[in-house]
Amino acid sequence: MESKDYLSYLVREIHTTVVATVDDAGQPVTAAIDMMDADEGGLYFLTARGKGFYDRLKKRGTLALTGLKGTDTMHCAALSIRGKVRELGGGLLPRLFEKNPYMNEIYPDEASRSALTVFVIYEGSGEWFDLSRKPIERASFTFGGAEKVQEGYFITDACIGCKLCYSKCPQKCIDISGRPVVIQQQNCLHCGNCYEICPARAIVKRG
Ligand code: SF4
Ligand code: SF4
Repeated sequence: MESKDYLSYLVREIHTTVVATVDDAGQPVTAAIDMMDADEGGLYFLTARGKGFYDRLKKRGTLALTGLKGTDTMHCAALSIRGKVRELGGGLLPRLFEKNPYMNEIYPDEASRSALTVFVIYEGSGEWFDLSRKPIERASFTFGGAEKVQEGYFITDACIGCKLCYSKCPQKCIDISGRPVVIQQQNCLHCGNCYEICPARAIVKRG
């Protein structure tokens, strides 16, 4: 999937996410927030200006979120995003209400919507993690011009080909047919077992 597909999946299939912001004491605070639309400009949601959530967004300009789709841990896909937010004001409210008609039950008329404002996550990076696949599937993406940062474990030329990493890998996602051996990143749990056991210190952790 491309970045835009992940953002639309979040809106269409997951919708309600848990969003983390940081308060004045530097402590994380979470809130359940619906992601209401996505396009080439980013990911859109709304909140009320009276909420502490609004203040934290305005002060920090960043957030992190996770949404889950599935029935239980082993039949579940998770999509996480962290990025920068910008307030857009009330101009997009009619569009978000049209696409999310249930909002009319919460804020039934124009007067009750006066405190609402729209935010966009305009730049960020994301991670897809699907535990329902065997082996598990992982993918990362960026949007809005964010720099792609490599995260995870990588094997360097210091590898001596002992295959100990493969023996401890819970997903068996290390290709041991050559040297250096190679981690299949799309199936890696980021558990670090390989890193801990490698006798040649040939594995580096990034991100
Ligand atoms: S444990 Fe280290 S040295 Fe051995 S195969 Fe794996 S990466 Fe190479
Ligand atoms: S981090 Fe864990 S899952 Fe990934 S290659 Fe190493 S042992 Fe396997």
